Amino acid sequence: MLKTPGDFDGAFNDFDAASPENAINIIVRKSEILVDDRQSDLFSKTDLLSPLPQYIGRYKRLSVYAHSVHGAAEAPEGASWVGLRALFGRLPDDLAAIAGRAIQLSEWDRSHRFCGACGTPTERAEKERARRCGACGLTAYPRISPAMMCLVTRGNEILLARNVNFPPGRYSALAGFLEAGESAEDAVHREVREEVGIEVKDLRYFASQSWPFPHSLMIAFSAEYASGELRPDTSEIADAQWFTQSSLPQLPPQVSIARALIDNTLARLENTHG
Ligand SMILES: [Zn+2]
Repeated sequence: MLKTPGDFDGAFNDFDAASPENAINIIVRKSEILVDDRQSDLFSKTDLLSPLPQYIGRYKRLSVYAHSVHGAAEAPEGASWVGLRALFGRLPDDLAAIAGRAIQLSEWDRSHRFCGACGTPTERAEKERARRCGACGLTAYPRISPAMMCLVTRGNEILLARNVNFPPGRYSALAGFLEAGESAEDAVHREVREEVGIEVKDLRYFASQSWPFPHSLMIAFSAEYASGELRPDTSEIADAQWFTQSSLPQLPPQVSIARALIDNTLARLENTHG
C-alpha cells in the first residue's frame, strides 16, 4: 500500500531554515517529478530550484521542499520527468510516497493562485498550510476528496468488477467518490446499488489510503451481500462477477489499497469457509 514513512512529519512549519544543501528538494512539473536517470533517486542539482519552494515536511531530520516549475520546463542532462504512477518501482517506496505529497500540495498551490470568490491573487499564509485572499479574506486549504471502496463477499466468493476505464483484463473492488452530505457508509450502499444493483450489509472498515491522483482519500470496506441480482451499470462497469480464490482474474497492483483489501479479505474467507 502507498504510505508515507512513519518518521515523516508533515506538520506545517515556516521555512526559514531553507537551505538546499541540507534539504530534500523535489522538483515538480504538474504531476511529474524530476528523477535521476542513473540511480534510484530524485534529481535536484539544477538551476530549476525555486527561490520560494513549498515546505512539505521533515524526513530523517531534513526539510522537504517542493519546487514547482512551469509546464514546459525541460529536464536537465541526466534526468527525466516521471509521472507519479511510474515513480513506484523507480524510486524507493518512502521517497515515492513523499513525492506523492509534493505533487498533491504543488498542484493545490498552483490551482489556487487566485481567490475563488473574488478573483484577487492569493498569498501563502504564514502560520498554516493555506492560501489567503487579502481582499475578501477567503482562505483555501489543500483539498482532499474522500472516496470509498467496497469489496462485497458472498460465502467464499468476492465480487470484482471491470470499470470501463481499466486496462484490459483487470478487475477490482467497487469504488466511487462521496457525494456532499454523505457518510462513507452511505456512499458504500449507494455506489454498490448504482454500479451493480445489489444491497449489502455488515460493513467492515478495512483501512484508508491517500491517493494523490490528484487529491483523493480512499476509505476501504468489505461488506456482505444482502439481496438482489447483479445488474452492472454498463456506462461505468463493463463486467462484474463473483470469484473464488481459485478463479481470480487479473488484480490491481500491490501498491494499491484495492489489492490489500482483496488479499486480506480472501485470507479471512479462507479461514472462515476453509
Ligand atoms: Zn477574495
